[in-house]
Amino acid sequence: MSKVILITGGSRGIGRSAAVLAGARGWSVGVNYTSNAAAADETVAAVKAAGGQAIAIHGDVSDEAATVAMFDATEQAFGKLDGVVNNAGIVAPGSALADMDIARMKRVFDVNVLGAYLCAREAARRLSTSRGGKGGSLVNISSAAARLGGPGEYVDYAGSKGAIDTLTIGLAKELGRDGVRVNAIRPGLIETEIHASGGKPDRAQVMGATTPLGRPGTADEVGESIVWLLSDASSYVTGALLDVAGGR
Ligand code: NAP
Repeated sequence: MSKVILITGGSRGIGRSAAVLAGARGWSVGVNYTSNAAAADETVAAVKAAGGQAIAIHGDVSDEAATVAMFDATEQAFGKLDGVVNNAGIVAPGSALADMDIARMKRVFDVNVLGAYLCAREAARRLSTSRGGKGGSLVNISSAAARLGGPGEYVDYAGSKGAIDTLTIGLAKELGRDGVRVNAIRPGLIETEIHASGGKPDRAQVMGATTPLGRPGTADEVGESIVWLLSDASSYVTGALLDVAGGR
C-alpha cells in the first residue's frame, strides 16, 4: 500500500537512505533539510528515480513554526500522513563534559531533544485516529550512545538520545489506542557525514572495526529497518528500541 511519509533530516545520510528505500516502495516522501539544499534536491531526484514521489522541505526542527510547516507541506503535496521519521540530529566535536560550553549543549538539546519532541507532537496530532488521522507509524532515530553514554566524546549527545528512548516508551503507550505505533532505532557506528561534523571523519571506519561484526554499518542497513518499522509488516511492533549496531 502506498504511504505518505515525512523524514526530518531526510536529505543526507541515514535519512536519505530511508527516503530512497521508501521511494522504491512507491511511497511519497517529504524530505526535510536545514542547510544543504543541493543534497536535498539530489535526494528528491533519487526517490523519484527509485519509483516514488518526493519534495524537498527547508526547515530547522528546533523551530516550532518550521516544524509545523514541514508537516503541512508534506500533507499539502501528498495527502494525510501515514508515517514520520524523526531523524534530524547533530553532534558537536568530541569533548569532556568539563570542557563543554552552554552554547554547544543548548544546540545539541534544541535539535536532538526539543526538535524531536516537536516532531513527535506534530506526528501525534496528525496521525492519531481520535484527531482525524489515519493512524500510522512514528520512527524515532536514537543512538547506541543512549546506552553507552558517549564518555569523553559527547555525553550531551548521548543524553539527548536517552530522551528519545524515553519519549518512544511513553508515546507508544499514549498513542497505541489511536492506531499509532512508536518505535526507536538505535544505530551504532554508521558511515555518514555526521562523524566529520564531529571532527572525526574516519570515526565509523576505525571504531567499527572493533565491533562484533568487525565493520561499520551503512546508511542503507539502518534505512531498511526504518522502512520496515514504517511498513505494515511491523504491525504488532510498538514501544521497541531496535539496536542496528553490529552487536556493539
Ligand atoms: P548526517 O549524515 O549528518 O545527516 C544529518 C541530516 O539531518 C541532514 O539531512 C541534515 O540536513 C539534517 N539536519 C541537521 N540538523 C537539522 C535541523 N536542525 N533541522 C532539520 N534537519 C537537520 O547524519 P546521520 O548520520 O545520517 O544521522 C541521522 C540520525 O541518526 C541522527 O539523529 C543521528 O544522531 C543518528 N545516528 C547516527 C549514527 C551514525 O553513526 N551515523 C549513529 C547513531 C545515531 P542538511 O543537509 O541541510 O545539513
